[in-house]
Amino acid sequence: MEKKIAVLPGDGIGPEIIKGAIDVLQVIEAKFDHSFEYNYANIGGSAFDEEGTPLSDKTIALCKSSDAIMLGAVGGPKWDALPVSSRPEQGLLRIRKELNLFANLRPTKYFPSLAPASPLRQEVIENVDLMMVRELTGGIYFGTPSERTTIGGKAGAVDTLLYTKEEINLVLKKAFEIAKTRSKKVTSVDKANVLESSRLWRECATEMAVQYPDVKLEHMLVDNAAMQLISNPRQFDVVVTENMFGDILSDEASVLTGSLGMLASASISEAGPSLYEPIHGSAPDIAGQNIANPLATILSAAMMLRISFEMEQEAQLIENAVDAVLNKGYRTKDILSADTTLLTTSQMVEQVKAEM
Ligand code: ATP
Ligand code: MG
Repeated sequence: MEKKIAVLPGDGIGPEIIKGAIDVLQVIEAKFDHSFEYNYANIGGSAFDEEGTPLSDKTIALCKSSDAIMLGAVGGPKWDALPVSSRPEQGLLRIRKELNLFANLRPTKYFPSLAPASPLRQEVIENVDLMMVRELTGGIYFGTPSERTTIGGKAGAVDTLLYTKEEINLVLKKAFEIAKTRSKKVTSVDKANVLESSRLWRECATEMAVQYPDVKLEHMLVDNAAMQLISNPRQFDVVVTENMFGDILSDEASVLTGSLGMLASASISEAGPSLYEPIHGSAPDIAGQNIANPLATILSAAMMLRISFEMEQEAQLIENAVDAVLNKGYRTKDILSADTTLLTTSQMVEQVKAEM
């Protein structure tokens, strides 16, 4: 199969980890006789340096004309002092909006060999396998007004939390569809005891559940969900929630089972190309040292093969290779534990390729 992939390495460790993922994709091309075209473009701080904006129209056009997008990470102290509209993170917000990436999917899975790196006891995290589905293009991150204001004569600020039923139903439907292929349980997280938008969300979820009789729907308040993720994460299969709650809960879920450097994500659109990236940031503290963990980005490439290209076998080959490498005791610095072998970024990539 021929596919066009837009590659946006970004800042910090972005270029190093993206290189690892592309190396792995080239093994897939050779083994399965596919042909991937990689088109590189800037995003984030490096885009600001070169093009004067964290995401140029040219890059957006490239992304829109591609079959999928692989992204490294954006941001770093170098750009912290810029005005908000020029900051690297604006590139991310803009690409989500421009490509209509309405849902962010983050699988969190138990890796037995990484259990020592988890902050939780093994008996709590054993067999955890959950999928966070976060609404990504609505809610308080995008509502207007969002500004400094005067409230009853006093200086203040306002942000606006807005959702249409259509936006809510789109992401709920995705969650139910995913649950159908998994353990058939959806936990819808909201704050319906306080927020009107959450009451609407809960209504929509209850209505949607009627169309999925084989999927069990459960509602949970966000504060309780934050607690349950730590005390009993095994109860969850698919967790679906709005943008800000999902931002916070998906970071929380990501640390349950081990390292940040291991977890992949997909930001999907309905009809256009979807975007794949590791969940961790640009890690400026370790950039350029060849010590970053490339596995989250490599596993994001596997998600791309599965979701965007429907290449299940190819995706599994990568995932199995990552499992095998971990089982052999190979580790980057972030997941190093007793009796394991320290590898650099590029050595880890070589091990994954060798396993494949
Ligand atoms: P962002 O705001 O972009 O989410 P962040 O401030 O949450 O970024 P990260 O960039 O994810 O932070 O880094 C958090 C810590 O985790 C840093 O100490 C970083 O070095 C480490 N880290 C992140 N990703 C990796 C990786 N792939 N390999 C090794 N360490 C990593
Ligand atoms: Mg973060």
